[in-house]
Amino acid sequence: MDWVKIDRAGLSILPAAAHIDPLAKVQVALITHGHADHARPGHHQVIATPETLAIMAARYGDDFAEIKTPLRYGEKLKLGDVHVGMAPSGHILGSAQIIVEYQNTRLIAAGDYKRKSDPTCAAFEIVPCDIFITEATFGLPVFRHPDPKAEIKRLLNVKSLFPERSILIGAYALGKAQRVIALLRAAGYNAPIHIHGALQNLCNLYQEYGIELGELRPATSTNRGKPSQELEGAIIIAPPSAMNTVWARRLSDPLNVFASGWMQVRQRAKQRGVEFPLILSDHADWDDLLATIEAVNPGEVWVTHGREDALIHACQQRGISARALSLIGYDEAME
Ligand SMILES: [Zn+2]
Repeated sequence: MDWVKIDRAGLSILPAAAHIDPLAKVQVALITHGHADHARPGHHQVIATPETLAIMAARYGDDFAEIKTPLRYGEKLKLGDVHVGMAPSGHILGSAQIIVEYQNTRLIAAGDYKRKSDPTCAAFEIVPCDIFITEATFGLPVFRHPDPKAEIKRLLNVKSLFPERSILIGAYALGKAQRVIALLRAAGYNAPIHIHGALQNLCNLYQEYGIELGELRPATSTNRGKPSQELEGAIIIAPPSAMNTVWARRLSDPLNVFASGWMQVRQRAKQRGVEFPLILSDHADWDDLLATIEAVNPGEVWVTHGREDALIHACQQRGISARALSLIGYDEAME
């Protein structure tokens, strides 16, 4: 495999003169999804799904790259002698596995992915390949994520016990926040949901792409210096960065919830002062990592970031050769 290299910008496909999710500015960037650690501004050309291009424009402005090339799921594009394609990865709106075909070898960079149901994005698609490049954010046997619908039901049960208290849910602005809202709607919660101003643009973008989020209202936490009456008993969603600010302290006695796969780790919930850990992950857990590798059935597995050792060992036990790429710069906290 002399045509794939790791350089200062990360994973480089030499005959395509392109990088996948580059960590530094490059000429041609193939981007799996819109999270900030994968989609950085300033590349000359970005090739990504139309949704990912729209997310990058919403976050960085229209001039985030000189050339923007949309590539839809199932479409192919030729770069030099390399064919490039996209398949859904089930992580967030527009997220893609990047399929690279060169000299009878198919390599897939899955980016961040998950297998559990998510009403806000297309489900992960199994594409057989020779080399499967996987993340391992939750690559330890202790990580097993519960059914998302059951987690939302658990939250709504607690809400019914405290009808007067507002529920303040910390959730990342891109992907997690919209997934929490869509899951609440799917569970039959029809009241307006209040969102922090930092979520407005991305919620609008999801709705423009046909993701139903129901009625959203701005969560203004005060009304002339007093806590807003409208927020009593309401569900409020805010980015994690707003959770311990003046804005949040003005809410009267909210129930503090945080939505993350890491909430399975009690210590992390405690550190954040979370009363109700909502275990909701946009990454594959241990069982889903292994099930995915079995289904994709690659000749070789490369692990990009996360907890590589256990996953590499599990692959080898199954007769699949595996190695760590140890790419630094992808943020496991973005979850
Ligand atoms: Zn991500």
